[in-house]
This record gives sequence, C-alpha cells and structure tokens, in this order.
Amino acid sequence: MISLDNYFKIYPKVIRANTKATITLKPRLTHWNIPEGEYKFSRYSVNYNSNKENRNIKVRREGNNFYIEGFFEGEQEHVIYIDMGNKSYSFSVYSVNDDLLSRVPYKGDMHIHTYYSDGIESPAYVASSCRKIGLDFVAITDHGKYFPSIEAINTFKDLDLDFKIFPGEEVHPPNNPLHIVNFGGKFSINELFEKEKETYNREVSEIEERLKLEVPDIPERYQLASSIWCFNKIREAEGLGVLCHPFWRIKEGYYISERLLDLLYDKKPFDAVEMVGGYHMYELTSNNLQIVSYYEKSKGRNIPVVGVTDAHGCDTGSLFGWYYTVVFSPSLNLKDIIESINAGYCVAVEAIPGRESRVYGSLRLTLFTLFLIKEVFPIHDKICQEEGNFMMKYLMGEISEDRKHYKKDLEEFYNLYWQK
Ligand SMILES: [Zn+2]
Ligand SMILES: [Zn+2]
Repeated sequence: MISLDNYFKIYPKVIRANTKATITLKPRLTHWNIPEGEYKFSRYSVNYNSNKENRNIKVRREGNNFYIEGFFEGEQEHVIYIDMGNKSYSFSVYSVNDDLLSRVPYKGDMHIHTYYSDGIESPAYVASSCRKIGLDFVAITDHGKYFPSIEAINTFKDLDLDFKIFPGEEVHPPNNPLHIVNFGGKFSINELFEKEKETYNREVSEIEERLKLEVPDIPERYQLASSIWCFNKIREAEGLGVLCHPFWRIKEGYYISERLLDLLYDKKPFDAVEMVGGYHMYELTSNNLQIVSYYEKSKGRNIPVVGVTDAHGCDTGSLFGWYYTVVFSPSLNLKDIIESINAGYCVAVEAIPGRESRVYGSLRLTLFTLFLIKEVFPIHDKICQEEGNFMMKYLMGEISEDRKHYKKDLEEFYNLYWQK
C-alpha cells in the first residue's frame, strides 16, 4: 500500500468525533494531472462501525481535487482506501473528542546534556539539533547546572522561533542517589544545596522526622525525605519534577534501591516518571523494567509518564532522538505544557531507528499517538527540520540581520490538519 500523503495534501486529518466532515485531497505537485477514470473509495473505522450508514462516504471530484464526505463516529482511526485498476492507495484520519481536538501534540525532550557536564556540544547546538529532528521543545538538563539551559534560551533570544527552549537541570541532592529533573523551574534547585545549606538540612530533617511513623530506620528514609524536599522546591519554582531513570544499572547494581522506588511511588512526591529513555542498545532491559514496574507500582493511578533521551551528544549515533514525550497541550507555553503533563495528557515514545515506534501511557492517548506517528508527525517533522536548519545557520553566523523572523509554518499546518 502506498501512502497518499506523499502526493496529496489531505486535510483535516484530526476530526471532531461524532460529526460529519469533508476531507480534501489536493495534489501537492502542480504539474501532476490526476488521470480521469474510475476511482473506488471505501472506508473502515478500526474500532467500530455502529451501523452501515456510518461507513458510507460520498466522493466528489473537482479538477484534480477530491472531496470525501462522511460521518466520523467515536474516537478512532478511519482508513480510506482508494483503488484504481491495479493500484491501491490509502490514508487515515482520526476522530477525537473536543478535549483532544483543542490540544496540539507537542514533541519534546526534557532530559539532555551538553559540554557543561558530560555531553559533547554547546547548549545552542543541542537545541538546534533537537529542532532538526522534529521536536517542538527541549530543556537542557546538565548535571548540577542550571545555567546551560538559560544560555540556550539566550542564544536565540533575538530570533522569533516556533521552537521553545525551557529552563532545566538534573538535580543531584547531597547524600541522596536519586537523580531528578527540574523541568521548567524558574530557579535552580542545585544552587540551593550550597546557598541554603542549613535550611536544606533542617527542612529535610523535619520531613524525615515526620516519616518516622511510617518508614523504619533505613537509609531510604533520608533519601525519601531529601527527594520530597527537592520535588516540593521544583513546584515552588513552578517547574515539573521528574523521577529519572529508576532502573539505571551501574556497577553496584540499580542506582536506587527498589525500596526507595516503592516509597517514591507510594508517596508520589514527583510529578512525572521517566518511562523510557536514556538507555543504549545493551541496556534496553532497563526500559523493560521501568514499564513493568510503572504499571505494577502506579496501581491504576494515572501517574504522568515521559520519554527522554538523556543523550550526551547529538551526533554519536546513539540515544539522541530515540525517545521523546508527546504532550497534548492547548499551547506551547511552559505553563500549559506543565499543566497538561500534570493532568496526564502525555505519552512516552520510544523511536529507536529501524524499529517500529512504541508508545506508553494511557490506551486512549497511545492509540492516537500511533496514528500521529504514522500520519501527522512525518509532515510536522519536515517543517521543524527547516527551522532547525535556520537555527543552525544562525549559529554559524550565516543569517543576515533582516531575517530573524522565521516563517510560522506550523501554525498554518495545525490550522489545516486539525478540524476547526
Ligand atoms: Zn541521571
Ligand atoms: Zn542525565
């Protein structure tokens, strides 16, 4: 089966559920005349067709354009097949309820390193590279350092970009092995361990004191208290606190004990958990364990999950681009992104080259994201790539003063592909 999207602009792709809609097929290539002849259209909805009438579609042709009218029932994918002689084509659209239709799927990486910690490139280079592979946002999260994320933001401050760079850091609390990502926080948590050392020590002791009733005298009690303090501070900074790579295996074993992980899931001081990410080919069992432990330990609670690369270089051929998060958000403003993640409007994606992408999160969002990966993101990613190239040229000093506003192609894209 050949995808029609290469040859036709097909819109809208995301349709309001339980309404009638008209889908337009418009040739992308102006020189290409669509031959006259007998085209046979049929439609199937992947989850259900409650009655035969709902399966019917009406097709109209005007010049080289086709218009397909139908009723799109429920939240599901609808595949439209077009047969002409011995050739067969298909494409899909997806109908969703209003809460999803009013949100845009934003792709982002919330955990990545630069040469300010153990990465290879500058923050601005990393940010441009992320745009080039189709991400909508990134937060640089160097070990113990907040300023690299700010440097990335400042480098592009004179450009009017669709791409968003948010503040971030990987937080390493003293005497606590847990790694925590501060995504979007307005201030650094790492800096507080030095600047407000006494306050930190006192407040962690107070939290530990309160935990004594529930948690026995084990090292994890202190670790939990310290983690609770960090996650609370991140929220005070209006950021999102992410529990990092729970099954990262180092020489001594998993970097945190399962006892600590159980306590963390039990108290849930964090906002989101890294479901997939950070692992090379030989470490993929860690993702396996994170997925299984998530479903077991979250006990049916809708705890938000994210996918992150934790990449330490964009051009190494490993990790960079292998994992990302899709956030369904009304806008790309930081506040909306964080609120949407907290409300569970996000999935974690594993996209290892040469393999089928895998999506994790709620079934509803996973089904929709699998459709987006197939039908929408390839077009979206190409638009992002152009802006990424533009950012990279800017870093190379190849952009003249008068070209600092990049064309807002994505806005046009969503206006066309999402039914109004
Ligand atoms: Zn880490
Ligand atoms: Zn890291």
